Amino acid sequence: MTDTTGREAGLALLREHALIAGEPVTSTKRIAVDDPATGEILGHVPELGVVETERAVHAAHDAFPAWSRSDPHKRAAVLREWARLIDENTQGLGALMALENGKPFEEAKGEVAYANSFLKWFAGEAERLIGETQDSPLGHVILTFREAVGPCALITPWNFPAAMLTRKLGPALAAGCTAVVKPASQTPFTAIVLAELAQRAGLPQGVLSVVTGDAATIGGVLTASPLIRKLSFTGSTPIGRKLAEQCAPTLKRVSMELGGAAPLIVFADADLDHAVAETIKGKFRNSGQTCVCPNRVYVERSVADDYARKLAEAVSKIPVGGAFEPGVKVGPLIEDKAIRKVQDHLALTKASGGAVLTGGEPHALGGRFFQPTVTFGGDDALFRREETFGPLIPVFPFDTEEEVLAKANDSEFGLASYLFTRDLDRALRIGRRIEAGMIGVNTGLISTAVAPFGGVKQSGYGREGSIHGIDEYVDVKQVTLALR
Ligand code: ADP
Repeated sequence: MTDTTGREAGLALLREHALIAGEPVTSTKRIAVDDPATGEILGHVPELGVVETERAVHAAHDAFPAWSRSDPHKRAAVLREWARLIDENTQGLGALMALENGKPFEEAKGEVAYANSFLKWFAGEAERLIGETQDSPLGHVILTFREAVGPCALITPWNFPAAMLTRKLGPALAAGCTAVVKPASQTPFTAIVLAELAQRAGLPQGVLSVVTGDAATIGGVLTASPLIRKLSFTGSTPIGRKLAEQCAPTLKRVSMELGGAAPLIVFADADLDHAVAETIKGKFRNSGQTCVCPNRVYVERSVADDYARKLAEAVSKIPVGGAFEPGVKVGPLIEDKAIRKVQDHLALTKASGGAVLTGGEPHALGGRFFQPTVTFGGDDALFRREETFGPLIPVFPFDTEEEVLAKANDSEFGLASYLFTRDLDRALRIGRRIEAGMIGVNTGLISTAVAPFGGVKQSGYGREGSIHGIDEYVDVKQVTLALR
């Protein structure tokens, strides 16, 4: 049975306009947004261009002096009120995300709470923008202040339409920055509702604008503008590189949360049932479309068959379907080309000697649904280079700690990694040597508002969430006092 109440609650929130300085903006040129489960058009957003983006930039610039100098406790209060309104709209926002992203409704409601946890956390951080005092060797006293960087451009992806936004806006607004947001064209509606709720929560006009339209055009204006002092981007590594380059002439501060190719390593001493359950939690969140999803699983040879059999059995039982079907855990992929990528990765694995243990075919539901799939063996090189971003788990046996560590690190990416072992020495020894920003030991879930999130190598730089997240949006200013 389909939960139409949920679906209707989502459609009731859908707004077909962008928001510049608090004003709804439309255009005769529009972009269609579809439901990945059916391909049905849910609605349109305006295709805004250079002029409108510049207007949003100027609004952020004009609003910056007052907002950055406002009482941080007042900013915290706005963030808390915003979080309260989001909480109140959990059903509608969850449903809207389920519609535009395709993720199961229950999971989408979980994302609303996750998104909100960043606003609550950073409301507290606004109240803790603490400076230092220090005696100078010159006999002076040095005071430090943590001041807002300036108007920010925030470019977000479609896989977590709410959480990727609040993970940036929480610290930006807490620090006193203003922002122009460019949400992904596949999932713009959630961002628009969030911005409307922020206004209702008392965010002054101009502090936040949401601009929809052609990504390269809007990105071009945002990165070229000298008025924008900071770019925070979450998305693919190639686009991240391009944007960093575009930010170089104006020397903007830049944070980059980019792709990963996370290894998950299971040692023979691990609790295999637990490792299987956690592999599934990590892999199938958002139907395999997260940058921290395990992309390649390495299992110590003596337990590899056992682990793979248990995994395949559990994966074969995962309920697949539309977002509003009760009990569904895996939904459609975001677009047709995502399905082709899973098929390509599967074909290459099979061609290199990998066996399909479960799944391996487009799902009977058709469209963008693919069967949750486990393969065993074959060549892992592809999975070091590229993230599948879909419901495919390739499992490879390994023999020694050094061998698996070398494979784990032989990747240009370094976002998340996972280890399963009961040996604490080994967990720390390997955990310290893995080139990644985040390591889960005996867990497949590593993301919370209180944990630093971010990568090394070509997975980017900067940290979101945690006590470090706000540093991306502040400059440290020193005032030296010569006391006479
Ligand atoms: P994904 O593969 O997850 O869609 P992308 O890097 O293509 O990752 O997209 C992430 C975000 O970056 C989206 O909001 C997208 O619209 C935006 N984007 C894509 N290309 C550009 C670009 N040239 N300039 C600015 N933003 C871009």
